[in-house]
Formats: sequence, structure tokens, C-alpha cells
Amino acid sequence: MATAASDHPLLIGGASVETGEWSDVRSPYSGTTVGRIAKGGAAEARSALDAAEHAMREPLPAHERARILDATARLLEGRLEEAAQIISAEAGKPLKAARVEAQRAVSTYTFAAVEARKLGGEMVPMDASPAGAGKLAFTLRLPIGIVGAISPFNFPLNLVAHKIAPALAAGCAVVLKPASTTPLSALFLARLEEEAGLPAGWINVVSGSAGAIGDVLVEDERVKLITFTGSGDVGWGIAERAHRKRVKLELGNATPAIVCSDAPPGTAAKLAANAFSFAGQSCISVQRIFVVHDAWEEFVAEFLPAVQALRVGDPADPDTDVGPVIAESERDRILEWVRTSEGEVLTGGELTADGVIRPTVIARPAPTDRVQCEEVFGPVVTLTGVANLGEAIAGANATRYGLQAAIFSRDLPTCLRAAQELEFGGVTVNEVPTFRADQMPYGGVKASGNTKEGPAWAVREMTEERLVVLQL
Ligand code: NAP
Repeated sequence: MATAASDHPLLIGGASVETGEWSDVRSPYSGTTVGRIAKGGAAEARSALDAAEHAMREPLPAHERARILDATARLLEGRLEEAAQIISAEAGKPLKAARVEAQRAVSTYTFAAVEARKLGGEMVPMDASPAGAGKLAFTLRLPIGIVGAISPFNFPLNLVAHKIAPALAAGCAVVLKPASTTPLSALFLARLEEEAGLPAGWINVVSGSAGAIGDVLVEDERVKLITFTGSGDVGWGIAERAHRKRVKLELGNATPAIVCSDAPPGTAAKLAANAFSFAGQSCISVQRIFVVHDAWEEFVAEFLPAVQALRVGDPADPDTDVGPVIAESERDRILEWVRTSEGEVLTGGELTADGVIRPTVIARPAPTDRVQCEEVFGPVVTLTGVANLGEAIAGANATRYGLQAAIFSRDLPTCLRAAQELEFGGVTVNEVPTFRADQMPYGGVKASGNTKEGPAWAVREMTEERLVVLQL
């Protein structure tokens, strides 16, 4: 049977693969079908591994990998609007945020190409010990092997780029399992890589049953590294089962920002503008703001109107700031968390006529409220007054998460103290904690993960060092 234009087969070994079953990809805003994706499972995951194994038998030299990565960046640059439309349609991401994501993916590819060009080993100073006399030693950096990549829905293009571009830079073939809600951005990107000249089998996209595909990636010995971005339950579960592989986890956060009395002017407006982008569905969305008492009145007076001024609604409208969350079940969960908070809802906490959660601000939640101690992953921000910096840092750290945090103050010692004492993988100073540039080392501690992404860091994870010793 001919496939309709909106039907998307899987990509395995360079071939478009149908499976006889299709899953609808729906707009989280309108519920309309934006496309159908072939539904894969264990069998397709195994064929993808066969294809990846076959591809890696003929290694691609570094200059060729770099050329393909650069060419992918250029192709994407020429189709940014198309990419943004796909992201917006399937993820419900406001178009303006989707455009930023597409542009960032160009940057991710460009940095990965640089890494492919400079990937190399190190000389070992053998004459530094008597045992090394008369010897020369160096390391080679070799591709670790097939990479299994599992990606989430919230940055369906750029977080896929952060997995598949460094893997190619390192010389590894990939089997990618994108989020079931947002597989089309991933397929789009994989197709661009092929158009850029990537030979068959180096990138394979298998969407479908998460458990079945995930089990194959965990159990098959040909997969040497799993790179996972998503929720902690799934991620740490994979790490527990795949104990003989490298498992790289990028997980959630309950992102704090500390606002001191000497915060730069405009801090409240800046936080308001950022906290609700993509309806709070970023792992580093501002969720918990700790305001030092002296600053409380002024902060709230500036923050609330800025939140209320955000445009809420259809993500396809280029003026929309805040769109829907990914699914009705998530919407209900978030509203339930708001309802059960002991804090005072200052604004929001309800749906618009078209069913979108209004940006919600809760003052003085109890420390045990789910909106305060869990990751909301929705358009909800809490405000907590604190007596001093020490209390603010203690509050920010009172979470099992540790991805990114922010401090706003014009006092350097205050900022440096926060940078040292906040137990997070990254601390931003006078910048929203949501800030990420794609060359940064980005990743969490505690329950938030165990790795750093950013091409320079990811490429190293995806390689193995081999020592070579020469007797002269
Ligand atoms: P999720 O539900 O954990 O899903 C992530 C991916 O894992 C999806 O592809 C999902 O497939 C797959 N998956 C689910 N069960 C699996 C299993 N048993 N075996 C293998 N794969 C499985 O997370 P999400 O809701 O998409 O994303 C939200 C979470 O990601 C939040 O916690 C957020 O903070 C985190 N996140 C972290 C970062 C970071 O860089 N640290 C960035 C973005 C998001 P299906 O879609 O088919 O279920």
C-alpha cells in the first residue's frame, strides 16, 4: 500500500521501513494528527543494530565525519523554518521557541564537526619514571562502538542533535529511539544527515514500544554506550540494568533561582519571561525562586505583572509565549500538584478557554509540597521568602536534583559563595538558570544525572582510550 505524505516509516540501514502498524503523532494543542510514524519494536531495534554493526565495519575517517557534520549544519540552516514547524506541531512548542531550538541545533552540529577534526590522544611522559626509560607511549582515541540513544519530547530536535552529532564525530553508529510523542523532528534530522552524505546504517531511527526497544539496547552486547535524556525513573532503571555498558544520563531538575536584595534591575522581568517558556517543560525551567526578604515586595510587584502579560495559547501563533503541556494527563497532574500545595496561588492555577494552563505563581509553598520538592515540568513557579543567603542556598539545595541553579546579586563574594555552595552541575550568575549554549558542558549531579553533554564532552565519553607503548 502506498504511504501517504504524512506517513513516516522508520529509518534502518538507510531504508524506509514500515512495520504494518502506525502510531498517530498528534498536536498537544489541537489534538489533530500531524503525521503517522511506523511503530517499531524489538525486531526493528535488532535490525537497526545489525545495520549499525555493518556500517561500522567500514570506519569513516575524521575528515569525512567532520565534512558530513558541517554539511548537516548547512542543510539545517537552509531549512530552519521547516524544522521549527515540525517541532512546534508535534511538541506544541510555541513557534518562537521552536525557531530558537532549530537554530541551536545548527550550532550543535557545528561544534561536533570541530570535535571530529581535533579528536586525538595524548603523549605519555614515559621518561618521568625509571620504569619508562627507553620507551615512547601515547594514547589513541577510538570510537567506543554502537551508541544507543534515547531522547525526550521537550527538545525533540536539539537534544537528538546532542546525541547523534557527537556520536558521529567520535566515529560511532547510532540507534536512536526518540520520544513517541515527537519522533518527526528526529527523523527529519537523521534524513538531513543522510542527505549530507552519511552512508547507510550510521544513523538508525526506531520509534515505537519504549520498553521493547529499550530492552534490546540494554541487553544487546553490541551497544557499548547508552545516552539517555529523560526522567529519572527510566534513566536510573536503565543504568541499573545495563551495568556492563557506559550509561550517560541527563535527567530532571527542580530548578532554583536565588534573588538577593542587590539583584540587577530587571531580574524579576527576566525570570518571568524565561520561567514559562515551553510551559516550563525544560529540565532547567525556573521552578523555585528564593527571594531574600528585603527584596520581596519589589520582586513580586515586578514579577507578577510580567507573568500575567505572557501570551498564552496556540503554539503555532508566532506571538504565543506559553503553549500547552505535552499531554492531558500531564495537564491534570500539574493542576493537581497546584491544588494540593499549601502555598497561595498569586496568579494562574487554572485553564484558559482552549485548555492551556495559565502561568502559575505560588507564594510560600510548604517545603513538602510537590510543586516545591519534585520536578513540576509545567508552567508553575514558587516564591519563597528567605532571611539571608545561607537560607536561600539551603533551600535551593533541599532537593534530590542538581542540574542548574542561578544567583542574582551584584556582590561578587555573594555570587562566588553561591557558585561554591549550590550543589548543582552548573550555576549561572545574573543569568536565568535556563540558559544553555550548546558548547557548554551541561549536566547534573545527584539525581539529575551522571554526565556532561556538549559536543566536546560527549565525544570523549563516546570514545575509548587505547594505550600504545613503543620500546625504542
Ligand atoms: P521519559 O518519559 O523518561 O522519556 C524519555 C525517553 O525514554 C522517551 O524516548 C521514552 O519513550 C523513553 N522510555 C520510556 N520508557 C522507557 C524504557 N522502559 N526503556 C527505554 N526507554 C524508555 O521523559 P520525557 O517525559 O520524554 O522527558 C521529560 C524528562 O526529561 C524530564 O524529567 C526532564 O527534566 C528530562 N530532561 C532532561 C534534560 C537534561 O539535559 N538533563 C533535557 C530534557 C529533558 P516513549 O516516549 O516512547 O515513552
